[in-house]
Amino acid sequence: MLGPVLLAAARSDSIRRVVSAAPVTRPVVDRYVAGERLDQCLESVRSLAGHGMEVTLDHLGEDITDRSEALRNRDAYLALADSLAGEGLGPRAEMSVKLSAFGQALPGGDDLAYANVLPVVEAAAAAGTTVTLDMEDHTTVDSTLAILAKLRERFPQTGAVVQSYLFRTEDDCHALAGEGSRVRLVKGAYKEPAEVAFQDKREVDRAYVRCLKILMAGDGYPMIGSHDPRMVAIGQELARRFGRKPDEYEFQMLYGIRAAEQERLVAEGHRMRVYIPYGTDWYGYFMRRLAERPANLAFFLRSLATR
Ligand code: FAD
Repeated sequence: MLGPVLLAAARSDSIRRVVSAAPVTRPVVDRYVAGERLDQCLESVRSLAGHGMEVTLDHLGEDITDRSEALRNRDAYLALADSLAGEGLGPRAEMSVKLSAFGQALPGGDDLAYANVLPVVEAAAAAGTTVTLDMEDHTTVDSTLAILAKLRERFPQTGAVVQSYLFRTEDDCHALAGEGSRVRLVKGAYKEPAEVAFQDKREVDRAYVRCLKILMAGDGYPMIGSHDPRMVAIGQELARRFGRKPDEYEFQMLYGIRAAEQERLVAEGHRMRVYIPYGTDWYGYFMRRLAERPANLAFFLRSLATR
């Protein structure tokens, strides 16, 4: 029951102000966010690289309300690409972007988001890396996939994300499973209505397995984005069944979640990519992480109570 409430709160400006101002919030946020500044994020990249991991970097930002914010977000990613190039981190570190941070929901949003994300994709390629377009709520999926298709005409390595909770996603997996595509499969993190998405967790899990089979059987590069031990085990089994070598798929997990499991997979010879968010606009991301696991909320509330 708490999950939907937290997901609704994730989009409330008044709750954002209260939660962001509470001093006790910070230590809990630090568990999931690698710092507010680029240098802090790069420190985490180096540390994870030392443990044999790849990363994808998210400069936090979403749901902007004017064009100047889109330009600021674009510039933050351009600075990030510059740093990756400068430090030679490109091959190990890719970037994840949310198109809502590039103006997707503003008037003329499809063109605006494309115009703003294109230089980032170009800068990523120059730095020897690539970009994955995160997937947001279901109203954005058609637009995001259309922008992806346009970007892939020049940059075929641009990655997509699909969410197994959406009814449409098996079809999207079939469409995206072709040669050269990179597809991150996740369960989905937004509050979605019953008209478009499975509401029962077991249904979402079953759909995840169906989608993973399609991606593993296809010719693209599947990216298994889950902390669920069952999904990880099924991913390993499917990789074996479809004869995929360790560099023909990868596991992905979020910064701060199941770190020991991340290390275990690397030790077993799997490619493991950690999604590292950084920046000041952490509220929406943080609330979605709380919503995924009620124990996180209990931890947060306990730290409030013990002050
Ligand atoms: P669950 O069944 O939710 O969790 C399995 C187990 O993982 C839990 O029992 C717990 O042990 C652990 N766990 C899961 N979440 C947490 C948490 N927050 N804190 C502590 N432990 C936890 N969603 C989108 O909608 N769009 C995206 O673009 C997107 N990108 C993602 C990128 C990556 C690399 C990953 C890993 C996830 C991404 N997600 C995205 C989030 C995803 O949709 C899920 O909400 C999230 O991964 C939780 O689902 P799960 O598969 O881990 O399984």
